[in-house]
Formats: sequence, structure tokens, C-alpha cells
Amino acid sequence: MKNYYIETYGCQMNVADSELVASIMEENGYGKIDTVESADAVFLNTCAIREHAEEKIHSRLGVLRKEKEKRPHMILGLMGCMAQHVKDDILESKPYVDFVLGPDSYRRIPDILRRHEQKNESIVDTRLSRFEVYSGMYPSRNEGINAWISIMRGCDKFCTFCIVPFTRGRERSRSVKDIIQEVRRAVDDGFVEVTLLGQNVNSFRHRGERFPDLLQAVAEVSGVQRVRFTSPHPQDIDDDMLFVMRDNANLCKSIHLPLQAGSDRILKRMNRTYSQAEFLALVSRIRDLLPGCGLTTDIIVGFPGETREEFDETLQVMEKIKFDSAFTFKYSPRPGTKATEYSDHVSESEKQARLESLITVQKRHTLFRNRREISEIVKVMVEKESKKSSDVWAGRTDTNKWVLFAKKTTQVKQMVNVRITDAHGVTLFGELVSDPRRFHAVA
Ligand code: SF4
Repeated sequence: MKNYYIETYGCQMNVADSELVASIMEENGYGKIDTVESADAVFLNTCAIREHAEEKIHSRLGVLRKEKEKRPHMILGLMGCMAQHVKDDILESKPYVDFVLGPDSYRRIPDILRRHEQKNESIVDTRLSRFEVYSGMYPSRNEGINAWISIMRGCDKFCTFCIVPFTRGRERSRSVKDIIQEVRRAVDDGFVEVTLLGQNVNSFRHRGERFPDLLQAVAEVSGVQRVRFTSPHPQDIDDDMLFVMRDNANLCKSIHLPLQAGSDRILKRMNRTYSQAEFLALVSRIRDLLPGCGLTTDIIVGFPGETREEFDETLQVMEKIKFDSAFTFKYSPRPGTKATEYSDHVSESEKQARLESLITVQKRHTLFRNRREISEIVKVMVEKESKKSSDVWAGRTDTNKWVLFAKKTTQVKQMVNVRITDAHGVTLFGELVSDPRRFHAVA
């Protein structure tokens, strides 16, 4: 049997896509292997969100070139957003790459493998599709408690800094029926948690059914103990979605809410379609309907033209909201995006200074939020062993926070009650509690 090896970079959508390609390879007679050295087919599933992500792949390909020189029959495939972004240009500098496959080309892998076997020439397939959602295809999932389930693909928002609409194409959604079938099968395969994925997960639309309808349907699948989703766009969050989350205990009370910036002028330049005031109003609405809901975010510093005062507005919004945690980035110009037309760039040193002060502020807010959980009793899904000790489990709260606690007699995939005893950085520490009646939500 031939073997395949997939190395995944970037977001959860890429993790889900790699599991899809894994099932395609297995259906075509390949077995999974965990080392490059003994793989007949090696795929890099790539990210193009920032320049650094692509630089990493260029150097990785340099390393794999040596492996291919040792084993010329080894197939080397580049897939994902960077492949879609660079297309056949990569072959100029790296002619030893056999496949360049965009995110909408995976269904054609069996045919591409056959063509390569016959002609042994490089194949580039980066046709974006308005329809491809890989319906009816069941991913070959990695071990764990959570099943990543992609419900829609592409993005129509065109934020001026973002390359995703160019690498993943236009928005299109799977049918609710197809998604529910996959959720049921994942439960049968032993997964107790599902995470619904989309570049803009709450822009889900299929024949009149919207995201709240899908959430309700997934929540009703028996055996699904927890449902999460990522990444939503603030513009598409409405009361219907929040009501469904409120009324279903297994819909986790945590929302990733990308702010990106605090100043209205910069939000407009980013084409984020909401204002500072609208974002703050949305946060209060979420906290009214879902008290204690975990809120995380994405923030970019140093977007072209962002003044020191406008950056301070980002800090002020953070101070008002106090997110549970945040992914923070320096603006990275992406070829083909509108923002590259703006000439008033912020210097690298100023970007770095803003990023450092933003991280300091967020660390303080994360600790503030986590310390409020001390002495509370929360439900935790036992997920895996702690890296620190084999006597300690790591699991997540409903609000998507990691908790470490002594195992005692509990097992993976068990939902347990834990009293939070301490908080350091992003991690909570706790002890198992046998009496669930003492359980109550964080105010
Ligand atoms: S919503 Fe904006 S940031 Fe998110 S994937 Fe779409 S274009 Fe990119």
C-alpha cells in the first residue's frame, strides 16, 4: 500500500480540508503515515493570510526538495490558500512541486493522481467553484473529542486587508440535511463535540434556511454534548442566533467576535461594515441574552493610515469590553487586496510598539475575566492529558477556556463539574466536584 502524509498550516478550515483530502487518499488506496521520510505522497495544506505564513512554506519546500532528490518517485503537493494565491508561479522557482491544488480542487485528486502517474508532469488545478461544498464526502478525522464540520465555504465580505475572498472564492453553503448526516456519523464515530466551520460561519444560507435554523438542528442531534462554531462576522449576528444559543444547553456560550480595529474611520477603510458603537451595542446584546458568554476577538494593529489616536480607540473599546482573549496581529499587506493601494503605511517599529501594548492590555483583561471564575463550579469536557502531568486532565469550559484538574477516576469525553481554584494567564486550575447541584453560571 502506498502512503500519504499531510502537513496542515493555518486555520481550522484547513484542518477540516486536510481530513477531507485524507479520506480521498484512503479511498484511493493510500494509507496514512506520520513521517515524510516514508510517504509516497506528501501534501502541504497552506495558509496565505499573512506574508510570514507563505515564507514558512517556501522554506519548508526547500527542505522537502532534498527528500524528493533522495526519493524521486515521492509526490509533492501544495494545496490550500497559498497554492490558490501563487498558482503556477511556484513552479518557476520550485519545478520539483508535482501538484498545485486550490481549496476547490480536492474532489479531482483521484484523476490528478492518475494523470501524474501517466505523464509525470506538474499539475496545477486552481479553478475556484461557485458550487463546490464537498457534500456527501465524509472526512477521515484525527483522534479527539471534537469533529470539525465545515458548513460553508468562501467569503463575500471583501475586508480590504484580507486575501480569503481571493483564495477561497464566493460564499456557498452545504444543505442542512448533508450537515446533519455528517454530525450523526461523527457521533457514531465517538465524537461528543462538533465545531461548525466557515470563513463566515453565520452567513450560512441554504434554500431559505439560515444559521439559527442549522444551529437548532445540530443541537437536536442525539449524542452531541457540545456545539461550537467559528468564525462569525459581527454583521450577521442577530437575535434569532442568540435566542437559539440561549435556549439550547449544548450550544456553547462562547462567541469569537473579530473587532479588528476600534476607530470608525479605520473600520470603514477595512470595509468591516460596522461601527464602533454598533460593535459595542452587539456585545451588550450578547451579554444581556447570554450572561457570562465567553467573548474572544481578532485585532489588527498598524492598518494603513491608523494614527496613534485611532489605535488608542482600539484600546478604549477593549477596555470597555474586556475580551476573554484575543488573536492580535500586525497589518501584513496581501497582494491583490484593496488595502495595498493605500500608501500611508505605519512603520514596522510603530506596528511592533502598538502590538506590544495591545498584548499587555489583553493579558490584563484575560486575567481579570479568568480570576472572576475562581471558586465557581463549571462544567468541563475531559479532553486530553495535560502536557505538564499524566495525573492531570485538560478540558474546556462552555466558554471555551482550558482547565487543568487532577484526574481521579474520570475519563476522556466525560462531562464533569470542576470548582475553579486559580487562574494563570489563559489557563484555569480546578478540582473535581462530585455534587452538580452546587453548579451555577458565572454572573
Ligand atoms: S470576513 Fe473579512 S476577514 Fe473574514 S474571511 Fe471574509 S474578508 Fe477575510
